[in-house]
Amino acid sequence: MKLYIQRKTKLICLILLFITVKQAGSQTIVLENQMVPLRIGNHPEWLNFSNAPQRELKIVFECTQNPTQKTLSLRQEDVKQKWLLQLNGKELGNLNIDENPMITYWAVPPDCLNNGQNSLLIEPADTTIDDIRIGNISLIDQPLLQLLSQGKVEISVTDGDNGYLVPARITVVGKDGALQPLAAPTDRYLATRTGCIYTGTGKVTFGLPAGVYTIYANHGFEYGVDSVKIVVKSGEILSKKLVISREVSTEGWISTDTHIHTNYYAGDGDATLMERAITIAGEGIELPVLTDHNVKSNLDSIANLLGMKKYYTPIVGFEYTTPLGHFNVFPVTIHTPVPDNHVKSWNDVADNLQKSDKPEITILNHALDNHNNFRPFDSKYHISCAGTDLRDWKFPAIAMEVINSSAQLTDYMRLYEEWFGMMNRGYNLTPVGASDSHTVSRYLVGQGRTYIKTKDTNPDKIEIKEAVKNFKDGKVMVSFGLLTEMVVDTKYGPGELVPSTSKELMVSVRVMGPGWTTANRIVLYANGIKIREDAILNGSGPGIKYFKTWKIPRPKYDVFLVAIAEGPGGNKPFWPVPKPYQNTSSSWIPRVFGSTGAIWIDGDGDGQHTSAYMYARKLIEVSKGNISNLIEKLTSYDAAVAIQVAAILQEQGDILSSPEVSKAIKKSTPMTKSGFKKFIAEYKISKTSR
Ligand SMILES: [Zn+2]
Ligand SMILES: [Zn+2]
Repeated sequence: MKLYIQRKTKLICLILLFITVKQAGSQTIVLENQMVPLRIGNHPEWLNFSNAPQRELKIVFECTQNPTQKTLSLRQEDVKQKWLLQLNGKELGNLNIDENPMITYWAVPPDCLNNGQNSLLIEPADTTIDDIRIGNISLIDQPLLQLLSQGKVEISVTDGDNGYLVPARITVVGKDGALQPLAAPTDRYLATRTGCIYTGTGKVTFGLPAGVYTIYANHGFEYGVDSVKIVVKSGEILSKKLVISREVSTEGWISTDTHIHTNYYAGDGDATLMERAITIAGEGIELPVLTDHNVKSNLDSIANLLGMKKYYTPIVGFEYTTPLGHFNVFPVTIHTPVPDNHVKSWNDVADNLQKSDKPEITILNHALDNHNNFRPFDSKYHISCAGTDLRDWKFPAIAMEVINSSAQLTDYMRLYEEWFGMMNRGYNLTPVGASDSHTVSRYLVGQGRTYIKTKDTNPDKIEIKEAVKNFKDGKVMVSFGLLTEMVVDTKYGPGELVPSTSKELMVSVRVMGPGWTTANRIVLYANGIKIREDAILNGSGPGIKYFKTWKIPRPKYDVFLVAIAEGPGGNKPFWPVPKPYQNTSSSWIPRVFGSTGAIWIDGDGDGQHTSAYMYARKLIEVSKGNISNLIEKLTSYDAAVAIQVAAILQEQGDILSSPEVSKAIKKSTPMTKSGFKKFIAEYKISKTSR
């Protein structure tokens, strides 16, 4: 009997509670309706942030005690460091470390609020510089899970070309464009974050608070995007079919991301191995290389288990993470141990790898980023324009990243300049685009990517041998939102030598991309020196954005040609361009770009490609110490060869500032002058920074 009464009382309580919730369902207390800039540090991280932002935000408000859970909602932008959120001295959590604008929800536990005065505090829990915006803060009279399941949305994404469901990324933003929290089921075919669900099956049903939203569906760089605006009502299920189609034809080329992390082994990321299997399929990468820090991870069995294996051919690799830089190596076997990483020079890097895995491919990663107080291409010991290293280390890689989309540079061209310098020094390096993604949504896997010329009929049966060989040979294109193809004399592409004997070279350039990126400029480089430039006027459509054939006079000596297209990096919530990782300026313009690999022109007709460095050595040899003779011989060459001559003269003894050299330079061509000037300026900077 007693039990019965108790039960009955409980039931009544529940009913009462339900009524209260229902009555208060729309009750929302707005605590701050503006966006407030906050700053860690004394100087701006970004110029477009208010001049005198405060360090913390404290809001004092009147309220009544809460017998049940409520939800605090806020909008955050540009959060890079740790910020703490406290309500009446109680920690609610840290803001999401994610630069993308997003709404975040925080459960306010029962009895956390006081009758009368309450205070909300958002303050830094770090000392590293960070400019953020925080605001649109409100207290919603509903428990978090209940709020997130007010309405339901059922989405399917199909490929418009064949009608099949396709793995995709679903992005959900609210009225003002911020990523929206949602409630997706725990499902091994899904990878879910705020405002983002990757679905391996092309289908998903998830909960949302009542409201107005835009939903996007996409499938990486080669596909278009579909979107739909929806109004979610409490208690209703909305069903939407989204259709996306291929917009960029990449026949004969396979997409690879050679720099992918999981949190399973890397520890510092948030994507599990299972989520990686899904996100790689969702972003359309056909040859993924897992490269965790000094650990080998194998995607094969999990991809198989999840049915994702049909979309790609995974390769085992690792990021050889040393105090002297990071190197991605593959293909390797899963069972051999990763070599000792306590290296004393780059010679050890090459030796250690040769002693253990003998990987065919070693890539120098993020050459201009500082890790453990070491920058691989720091001006202290590396002369960028000449590709020379003052430490006398053997360069241990056959490729280098020219775009690492998670660790972007303030000026994306800087890594290309480094690559050009290395090529002119005689290192025939393959340029690489990679993502270095450690996360599901903050940084997209496959955003920076490389296309390798390889048979691409079955993405699950890619000939790894062929792909590795072509990668080593430089038969690649680098993509970050655009793709630039170049063919010389109607048939020669990246990694090939053009044996042309005609007076003119026919250089055909084609820029491609999906309808959601725009190209507005194309530049052609020979030995890293700009020789042609064109504005792209109608570069916003899907597919081919630009096509042109340049006729250029055939050089009398060998050069390598590279074309780079670029465009504005617009604000796409499903493909956000991350802000620079270690920014060197507080202003920055987001860009998309795509480049070709290097095409060698056999200008001297000897059947092989000769670098600027080799020409410089020959010229010095035949001049037999006669400086004015040597400088005069440079008349027939470009600034790249002049830079190499300057670098060798400097290495042979510090004679660049001698009167003899200065006198000869005065009488030289503008190309020679600019080459010497550039080398001397960089060498001076290097010397003073040591
Ligand atoms: Zn790294
Ligand atoms: Zn990495």
